[in-house]
Amino acid sequence: MGAIVCRKGHEITRFPQHFEGPTKFCPNCGSPAVTACETCGAAIPPGDVIYDWTPPTYCGQCGSPWPWTAASLASASELIDMLDGLTDEERQALKGTLGDLVVDTPGTEVAAMKFSLLARKASQEGGRALRTIVTSVATEAAKRLILGPWKHGYNVDRSLNGYSYGLDALEQEPTWPDS
Ligand SMILES: [Zn+2]
Ligand SMILES: [Zn+2]
Repeated sequence: MGAIVCRKGHEITRFPQHFEGPTKFCPNCGSPAVTACETCGAAIPPGDVIYDWTPPTYCGQCGSPWPWTAASLASASELIDMLDGLTDEERQALKGTLGDLVVDTPGTEVAAMKFSLLARKASQEGGRALRTIVTSVATEAAKRLILGPWKHGYNVDRSLNGYSYGLDALEQEPTWPDS
């Protein structure tokens, strides 16, 4: 039996065999519970009892984003509609990058570069909020490409040439330079 997570991504229980509370809705937000992948029916992998656990981003069986990942993408799209400083074409282009940022594809590098450039055109506050939402669900590769160049002061080209930025550094120091 797998973990039970609400549609927004809150853990209801990571080890349901030992859980006796109600499991149909989230006690934090009221969203319905998810127990299986809506695409292939695979269970959510159960979490470890001891260590911190966050729900997975993708189904390990079919690779589909879990509903909370899809929800973050929907929030990102909404936020993009509200960003100052972008033309309608740029908003559409920015939205178009999202699909390639949550799943590694041949287009991920280009999408991450486009995302960074366009997010940087938006107001500082909006751009920062957008990066926070998107990097919470982006693949590790996309995250490095989005965060790496600004965090480390390298240019975008350098980040695309196989240079590997340490994720530890990113997690320990989540600050953004002024745009
Ligand atoms: Zn919830
Ligand atoms: Zn699946």
